[in-house]
Amino acid sequence: MAVTVEIEKHSGFCGGVIRAISRAEQFLDSQPGKKLYSLGAIVHNEAELLRLGAKGLVTIGHDDIGSIPSPSTKTLLIRAHGEPPETYEIARRAGINVIDCTCPVVLRLQKDIREAKGQVLVFGKIGHAEVLGLLGQVGGNAVVIEDMSMLLDALEDGTIRTDVPVEIFSQTTKSPTEYAEICKVLTDRVPAGLTVHNTICSQVASRHAELSGFSTSHDVIIFVSGASSSNGKVLCDLCRSKNPRTHHISSPADIDPSWFRPDDRVGICGATSTPRWLLEQVARKITAGPR
Ligand code: SF4
Repeated sequence: MAVTVEIEKHSGFCGGVIRAISRAEQFLDSQPGKKLYSLGAIVHNEAELLRLGAKGLVTIGHDDIGSIPSPSTKTLLIRAHGEPPETYEIARRAGINVIDCTCPVVLRLQKDIREAKGQVLVFGKIGHAEVLGLLGQVGGNAVVIEDMSMLLDALEDGTIRTDVPVEIFSQTTKSPTEYAEICKVLTDRVPAGLTVHNTICSQVASRHAELSGFSTSHDVIIFVSGASSSNGKVLCDLCRSKNPRTHHISSPADIDPSWFRPDDRVGICGATSTPRWLLEQVARKITAGPR
């Protein structure tokens, strides 16, 4: 008997990534031969970056903004993660047009954090672009915690003060379960009062629930995402916690036939940055079997 293969029906790009990519393609298709400069990877997926690179999308870093060539092509795309205010100022001073693709969910989070009173905490990955964008909204005046052990250390050494009110925000792609655990500890440890902002993206939160069920209802899980995808790491860890036969891959070439037994039900899923076409390629390769 051959393996059966199913792609999880909600896997594929989230709304914010679809919006950013479609705006980039609109620009490139309407101005053939021109380049569009993306500040950081528009999506954490190498295969999709290659596809868009062939159309003229160039990924640059912050240090490269000043050296974007030729005035007629000076257009900078800000990706769904968002940026701190100073990036817009640098672009304005350099005479660069900006296509702002900050996800509306992130824009709302940036606004909420600007309006926070008291001590601001961010549950997120230190150095992640979205987190840097959030810190920029409050002039860097916030404490970032990545996990429970960092929270406990920060409470212990006084980095987080417990005698003043605290407002906590989460990076949009963090685990809802971990965020709830962190907020529970803070509720018990901050007598001055805690305000919890529910800022995990609903598309990410619902994927946690969907992938939990999907992982337990298949014999093997193939999780597809780029190596640098933060959301991919969180969701893949979730799948592995539900199904130890979970394998992370970035492309069909990473598939190892020894992972499968003859009658396995194989589930294929991915991060909010994994294109649907890549999941379909993976499904075809597994269905075709070893050659
Ligand atoms: S995961 Fe949610 S918040 Fe992040 S880009 Fe996608 S839709 Fe926007």
